[in-house]
Amino acid sequence: MTSARPVGALVDSRGCLTSAGFAALAGAPVGRAPADLAGHVAGCPRCQQRMLVEGAGSHPAQARRRQPRLWLGVAVGLAALLLAVAALVLAARLR
Ligand SMILES: [Zn+2]
Repeated sequence: MTSARPVGALVDSRGCLTSAGFAALAGAPVGRAPADLAGHVAGCPRCQQRMLVEGAGSHPAQARRRQPRLWLGVAVGLAALLLAVAALVLAARLR
């Protein structure tokens, strides 16, 4: 099998971590992250920024906070629709 450069897919042409690289780093046990990846992130502001942004996106607490907002928007839209229908029905009955 070809495992020529297993790290090749984890970093891009600039040496910065790809999404697979960040996943490998995040999935590694604490203290056992690939040294070359961890070493690069430690000295690369670009990768640190990306890691913070991607880490924030996949954080369970943040994900939990975002989903209700979507549902809240849908619920408010449906409630407004129901109110409009109820108002039309009431108006039709009062005539
Ligand atoms: Zn980098």
